[in-house]
Amino acid sequence: MKRNGLVIALDGPSGAGKSTVARLLAQKLGYLYIDTGAMYRAIGWKARHEGIDPSDEKKLADLCQRTEVLIKKDNSDPRVYVDGRDVSNEIRTPEMGMTASAVSKSAAVRARLLTLQRELGNNGGVVMDGRDIGTVVFPDADIKFFLDASAGERGRRRYLELKAKGMDVDLARITQEIVDRDQQDSSRILAPLKKAEDALLLDTTGMSIDGVLDAMLKVVEKVK
Ligand code: C5P
Repeated sequence: MKRNGLVIALDGPSGAGKSTVARLLAQKLGYLYIDTGAMYRAIGWKARHEGIDPSDEKKLADLCQRTEVLIKKDNSDPRVYVDGRDVSNEIRTPEMGMTASAVSKSAAVRARLLTLQRELGNNGGVVMDGRDIGTVVFPDADIKFFLDASAGERGRRRYLELKAKGMDVDLARITQEIVDRDQQDSSRILAPLKKAEDALLLDTTGMSIDGVLDAMLKVVEKVK
């Protein structure tokens, strides 16, 4: 199928800076930015809201059937809606990160969100970030980046991000939560977090946001 622009996949562990640079890269290129983690958080939010155990596959499958997840672009700040309710802020807590990770093991949840992600990205002109974009969602993506950073650095970044939002957070706890979540995401059976063989690895430890963005733009220019 002819696409209107590139499909750029951006994977990596939590706190590696994916969403920050994906958003900036999309802005620079005039592309759509799609945060797939927000979709898993949205399903996790609803499961929690309804008291559904994240290991209950049957109930999760049923929930997926009757749940509308919508990502709307609002002044370059994408908002996440579950059945019409804006949950953008509520899904950003560390607890919701762990819940998202728990429901993301479900085959029904992954199948549902895979369809949505492919629909959004099929026409091209997208930067999509997540854990399995280059391996499962768009294995034929034009460019694949895998962003990483040391666990300490990733914990520090997430800590500063949450603190800036006014949350009462503890650095050691946040770092441990990130390590635990990555362990859970890398060891699951379906679409585990891993670098696609043809993805370009960028270790962002000690790199500025602009430095990472420049490195990515150089790659995009060559492919365009
Ligand atoms: O990126 P974010 O931290 O918002 O993702 C929340 C969780 O959603 C991840 O820890 C992971 O378990 C899950 N996820 C996934 N596949 C993706 C994106 C996110 O399994 N493509």
